[in-house]
Amino acid sequence: MEGRRPRRYGSCVLGATGVVGQRLVQMLGSHPWFDLTEVAASERSSGKTYAEAVCWHLDTPIPESARGLVVKGLDPSLDCDFVFSALDSSVAGAAEEDFARAGYPVVSNTRNHRMDPDVPLLIPEVNAAHLDAIPRQQKNRGYNTGFIVTNPNCSTAGLVLVLKPLADAFGLEKIFVVTLQAISGAGYPGVPALDIQSNVVPFISGEEEKMETEPQKLLGKWDGARFVDAGIGISAHCNRVPVVDGHLECVSVGLKKIASLDEVREALRNFEVGAELASLPTALKNPVVVRDEENRPQPRRDANVGNGIRECPLLDVKLTLLSHNLVRGAAGAALLNAELLAARGFLKPRVTPSESQLAEPVSR
Ligand code: NAP
Repeated sequence: MEGRRPRRYGSCVLGATGVVGQRLVQMLGSHPWFDLTEVAASERSSGKTYAEAVCWHLDTPIPESARGLVVKGLDPSLDCDFVFSALDSSVAGAAEEDFARAGYPVVSNTRNHRMDPDVPLLIPEVNAAHLDAIPRQQKNRGYNTGFIVTNPNCSTAGLVLVLKPLADAFGLEKIFVVTLQAISGAGYPGVPALDIQSNVVPFISGEEEKMETEPQKLLGKWDGARFVDAGIGISAHCNRVPVVDGHLECVSVGLKKIASLDEVREALRNFEVGAELASLPTALKNPVVVRDEENRPQPRRDANVGNGIRECPLLDVKLTLLSHNLVRGAAGAALLNAELLAARGFLKPRVTPSESQLAEPVSR
């Protein structure tokens, strides 16, 4: 695999000043394969250094390598090999297409292209084979080296990671899920304090629809020409709660094959990724952690860890899952997707006109 990476890859974060963008900047600050060489955001930020433009929310300082970068606009002529998109969805759709058309692989967080019929919606541990759609996307859209790959909505990301081992072992018929979602999932400044303090808001625009459609694509198949849905019955209720990080989800699952609680517990506990994924810098060998205590997981105590499983009187089994919406969803999800793209040879050092005269790639 090392042979396919002649140098580190230069990356840009589009939307680097936002909640997701900041997490990406933080995670790229010490990444073994990727350098952050550009940051881009809106006209409000462009022209300033990153340190001047950003209202930094994270507990660790802004990485030194990012502080002095000058924030650019969305012109697709940046000094990087690929881009992450953490843009506001009002501008992400067209900007991501512009970058892909200009030859940049686009690793997107946003909802805009997730359900496009030729765009992979990817969780590496769930549906890495969907990357086979990239050549078809490039052909359909006349892209040369560029393409778009997306990650799911942050509540879908946690749900589907837990559903995958159950789908493989027993098959899935029906899912009923109620979410309790953290406020960092709403961006910055996000939900007004007066709405969320001591309160629960039982509505997140578009979220239930995303949770009911995205798992169908993720757990479905790429048949060589199109994505075929998994055909699972899903009903989702989504709530915003006064928690900073970590989406909790109460899930009831109807299985195709009868299984005992012990078999369900073991299928989740034994869920292990293969050697290719385990070798990615931010991948976990066992991405699902099963807690047996009745009162866990809890966002404040467990959001950074990585659950009781009970009989469900309505469907077959029920469980409570917790996933960090920014580390496992959003920023971390995009980073893992980029790592898989690099490992599979989909990221290439971008050749600029001056470099194309050189026999060997230039080291950063
Ligand atoms: P956010 O905090 O509001 O950040 C939005 C980013 O987009 C900022 O960098 C902003 O730059 C930039 N932007 C806004 N308008 C722009 C324009 N006209 N041109 C160029 N850049 C513009 O939002 P977020 O929570 O980070 O979310 C970013 C994206 O990820 C959204 O599409 C969201 O739906 C998706 N997402 C978020 C989460 C999550 O957990 N937060 C999870 C999954 C997906 P300025 O600072 O210069 O305005």
